Amino acid sequence: MPITCYLLSPRGYCSGVTRAVNMANQVMKLYGSFYVTEDVIHNKVFVKQLMQQGMRKVDSIDDIPDGSTVLFSAHGVSPQVINRAEKKELTVIDATCPIVKSIQSEVKLASEQGKKVIIIGHKSHAEIVALMGYACDTKFYVVYNEIDIDLLPDFSDDEVVYFTQTTLDYSMVERIVTKLKERFPEIKSGSKNNVCYATRERQDVVRKVANGIDLLLVVGSSHSSNAKRLIEVAINAGAKKAILIDSKDDLDIAELNKIKSMAITSATSTPEELVQDLVKYLKEKLDVVVKEFSIENDAEG
Ligand code: SF4
Repeated sequence: MPITCYLLSPRGYCSGVTRAVNMANQVMKLYGSFYVTEDVIHNKVFVKQLMQQGMRKVDSIDDIPDGSTVLFSAHGVSPQVINRAEKKELTVIDATCPIVKSIQSEVKLASEQGKKVIIIGHKSHAEIVALMGYACDTKFYVVYNEIDIDLLPDFSDDEVVYFTQTTLDYSMVERIVTKLKERFPEIKSGSKNNVCYATRERQDVVRKVANGIDLLLVVGSSHSSNAKRLIEVAINAGAKKAILIDSKDDLDIAELNKIKSMAITSATSTPEELVQDLVKYLKEKLDVVVKEFSIENDAEG
């Protein structure tokens, strides 16, 4: 009996990552090298290729030689980093995703209006680190779970708005927002982009296929937030197992002989060729029938 393997769609690059990847490739062609302080996108394979071509990663904008070229990642940077780049007369290539940029503007505006700003997300994620810089004149709070919410001060005299990291599990965000509303009944969303469309679409198709499936393979890197969320979404929706792999080389093919059904998806920062390599490898090594699966038309033979 062949293994049924659902190839999920949409998967892989979102519009923000496609834009950042194109910019990085163009800058590399034009300048031969450039500096970054953050991975252009959260994918180890793509970043390794750029490093081999001449991209240099440093810890801080201050470590970049004056007059060099710097590329800001899709996750964005704080206004303080932009100021320091200007002082050092760096040539700046800004690959910040337009959705992230618009959230930065909304946080800045809310902050200028004196509102208390709550961000649902991971404190150490590049997107949140940058975002904090746009609320520098106001108190800014990052929460990720119910305990964090319990620890928030009392804002009863202030207008409170919340934003979210764009790559979270949106069902988890809904639970957190419900809890926030218990503490701050007047709290409002500060943005229409809370958890972006690309993250939602990839989670939706995983939710649809996951129930009862033996294995979900997510092609993506371990530091990719949206890749890790796809694993959680799959398990919560009933997948028996879900694992994250950078590429086909991480796979233990002997393990797969025991399964009857599987699905493959990839993070918004995963190059499609890694998925295609994986599918080719599975077809070579296993008796597997690959079916396209999307929200609109489910499985197609
Ligand atoms: S995941 Fe969403 S916010 Fe992040 S780069 Fe992609 S489109 Fe932009």
